[in-house]
Amino acid sequence: MNLFDSHCHLTAEAFDDDVEPILARARAEGVTELVTIASDLDDAAQALGLARDTDGLWCSAGLHPHEADRFDDSTIPGLRRLAVEPEVVAIGEAGLDFHYDNAPRERQQECFQAQLALAAELDLPIVVHSRDADAETAGLLREATGVRGVLHCFTGGPGLLEAGLDAGWMVSFSGIVSFRRFDGADLVRRVPDDRLLIETDSPYLAPVPVRGRRCEPAHVAWTLARLAEVRDDGVDTLAATTDRNARALFRLS
Ligand SMILES: [Zn+2]
Repeated sequence: MNLFDSHCHLTAEAFDDDVEPILARARAEGVTELVTIASDLDDAAQALGLARDTDGLWCSAGLHPHEADRFDDSTIPGLRRLAVEPEVVAIGEAGLDFHYDNAPRERQQECFQAQLALAAELDLPIVVHSRDADAETAGLLREATGVRGVLHCFTGGPGLLEAGLDAGWMVSFSGIVSFRRFDGADLVRRVPDDRLLIETDSPYLAPVPVRGRRCEPAHVAWTLARLAEVRDDGVDTLAATTDRNARALFRLS
């Protein structure tokens, strides 16, 4: 069984001391492909270095909505320079976070729109983070015709899901689907087979039964098991489906 962790943060400080053993444990669990997602330009450069050195590891280049107040004239040219490298398979993560509001909302929207345009220009998928911003994210997504992407760590409502599916996007679920308070099972079931991805978002959001510990890519197996349960699907089938979908989105053979 091959597993594809479509969203992790291997450059996070929490992994500073042990990326190698973490990758080894991931492989032991069957995680053959991973995309490490960047939050800013320095992070993207670091992620690229790691991806170059690691089989089966790819990366993104983008500016997270939490960092959107750092968006300026140099951001897009800097991302473009990184994004032309073959290991960079996506733009992001980008999007809107009106829960934490770490940056002014107008800045977040400007930063997100610029990255949507960059993704279109480079014909790369965009990895989108949306929290408490369903309507605004859905609006920008509907305007951004010709952009492929994924709604990562999906916790939104039916309106955002619909906008994503209408646009032909993928929807990715994290360990949150295993939490007791998770109430989005009907939305999980609404995602067609060919649009579904899985992710850890590690080091955050460790799934049950490892909840509360540092999350790592090997834990994607628990998320897969829970998703299979919710969708009444076989684990092996769902592993193959999500692996195929991630390869299609990121254009890996
Ligand atoms: Zn993330």
